[in-house]
Amino acid sequence: MDFLPENEEPKKKKGGFNSYWLFAIIIVGLLATQFFSLNFQVKNIDEDYFFSKLLPTGDVEKITIVNKDQVEVYLNLDSLKTKKQYADIKLTKLKSLNKGPHYAFEVISIENFQQKLDAAQKDIPYDHRIKRTIEYRKGILDIIGWILPFVLLIGIWMFLMRKATGGMGGAGGQIFNIGKSKANLYDKDVKVNVTFDDVAGLDEAKEEVKEVVDFLKNPKKYTALGAKIPKGVLLVGPPGTGKTLLAKAMAGEAQVPFFSISGSDFVEMFVGVGASRVRDLFKQAREKAPCIIFIDEIDAVGRARGKNIMQSNDERESTLNQLLVEMDGFSGDKGIIMLAATNRPDVLDSALLRPGRFDRQISIDKPDQKGREQIFKVHLKTLTKLGPDVTPEKLASLTPGFAGAEIANVCNEAALVAARKEKTQVEVEDFNEAIDRSIGGLEKKNKIISPQEKEIIAFHEAGHAICGWYLEHAHPLLKVTIIPRGIAALGYAQYLPKEQYLYRTEQLMDEICMTLGGRAAEEIIFEKISTGAQNDLQRITQLAYAMVTVYGMNDKVGNVSFYDPQQDTTFTKPYSDETAKVIDDEVRKLIDTAYQRTLNLLTEKKEQLTTIAKALLEKEILFKSDLEDLIGKRAFDEEPLPVSIN
Ligand code: ADP
Ligand code: ZN
Repeated sequence: MDFLPENEEPKKKKGGFNSYWLFAIIIVGLLATQFFSLNFQVKNIDEDYFFSKLLPTGDVEKITIVNKDQVEVYLNLDSLKTKKQYADIKLTKLKSLNKGPHYAFEVISIENFQQKLDAAQKDIPYDHRIKRTIEYRKGILDIIGWILPFVLLIGIWMFLMRKATGGMGGAGGQIFNIGKSKANLYDKDVKVNVTFDDVAGLDEAKEEVKEVVDFLKNPKKYTALGAKIPKGVLLVGPPGTGKTLLAKAMAGEAQVPFFSISGSDFVEMFVGVGASRVRDLFKQAREKAPCIIFIDEIDAVGRARGKNIMQSNDERESTLNQLLVEMDGFSGDKGIIMLAATNRPDVLDSALLRPGRFDRQISIDKPDQKGREQIFKVHLKTLTKLGPDVTPEKLASLTPGFAGAEIANVCNEAALVAARKEKTQVEVEDFNEAIDRSIGGLEKKNKIISPQEKEIIAFHEAGHAICGWYLEHAHPLLKVTIIPRGIAALGYAQYLPKEQYLYRTEQLMDEICMTLGGRAAEEIIFEKISTGAQNDLQRITQLAYAMVTVYGMNDKVGNVSFYDPQQDTTFTKPYSDETAKVIDDEVRKLIDTAYQRTLNLLTEKKEQLTTIAKALLEKEILFKSDLEDLIGKRAFDEEPLPVSIN
């Protein structure tokens, strides 16, 4: 129940291998060995018990002495069955299992024991004496019985490791190939057929990399003049904005092989694997030069070294060191260009960014209206039949905050939606459904929500909408819906984020108030609150803490910023306990003030709140124009939307 998470994309899980399985299998294995050993259940006694209680009865059939310090006692089966004394020894239907040993005890000196036994036997009647004593060392079979479970476990572990590291190398010898790089090689024969035309928007970025492409095509022109070409280019931007696509297009334009690997592939469970992968990757690349090496998610290996003692990671550091060594090892004129992508350049080790390494940075942002238009143009090409009113401009205005990958996905989804409805062309409403699905997951038509709950949700979302409407600095609303989607969202309001990089205190305050609008509406109308606001509260807590400790927006705490991306502040706080207390108090105060303000606003606008909620219950989805019809135009100036919606 909150508004569109703008720049959060769930992190894709790579490989899909879960180490919990490993534990589960080990536990099952241990239980299994336990189970099998049940059959050999032996009662432990001591020497005295043997001489006083067992030997005189004459029930002992034989004893065996194992490894010179353990005595195992076998009773005869008839006495076992008949005598009460042995009732606690479980007998099974399988006769062979009952043959013992039934008791065991340890002796310190086997010679002593034997003397004692001889003496004791003299005092008991002949046919009560033990007829057989066998002495032996633990045989090979027992040792196998011991080792087998371990061998099995190690075998399972190796099997899983092999799965985890993916199917590299030929069948069979995979385990020995672990150090080989997994870089996907697009060889010259298998041409990368992506060109700059496939990359929409990103004009500046394309301009910047053109020089590199030209160098790859024609290195002599540059080397003859002694020019040094950058070895490494870092592409910085959020996921799905086309970093991989741009790198591929560079290889496609230059007609050179393209090696791509993800930073997380370097970081393996085996020590030393990462480093050897790096070595192997560069070896392959040198053979194929000129070429492009692309490392996705370089922050997985490139995080700053040794900052945090609690979480030092030798494996990652040795991988990073190897990467640095290799990068220094080739000079630019070899024709190997390194590209890397990351969303967090601030956490990268500064050694990576030094001249001669990734010394060029190109930032790739989420596309604006124009950019989205161009991306839609590219991806609409694949759809053959479009409705007459489907234009890239219109679609772009419906998808604020979307990245290229999401746009590509929306185009495909829209076609699927249209096909499901047996349509002959893809229309705007299909795109709308695809967009909703992309934001909130699948529509849950059959999710049963009681009327009471539906009412709460409607008022909650209406609360957000009203706050956005009457607070000057809040984002203008695009639409609000109470159609349940996905697992978490029971409804959401989508806003049109302003293209803005600096925020003033009032703007952040308004944002907090708007986010609190859901809960405040619930409290005003129902005088009760629900769990539906958890997500909202999480967001404002984060924002409020950032205002106080990062942006220096609090008088008491002052103009300080405790932000250090390379330091994990869980263990070492860069401020005193007193400051921590002040921070907590101020954050609380800030949120309380904002909540009170929201309550006041919504109490004042209770009538409009009810109108919107009722309309939502009826129509389930409201657009900006509907709101204007219901409660009048928004009082504040807005940049006019490029295209009006519906
Ligand atoms: P990143 O590497 O930044 O996470 P990708 O390059 O893997 O993103 O993008 C994924 C997909 O999204 C691409 O294959 C392409 O279909 C689409 N896409 C992303 N950005 C663009 C763009 N600028 N132009 C066209 N398609 C794009
Ligand atoms: Zn909410």
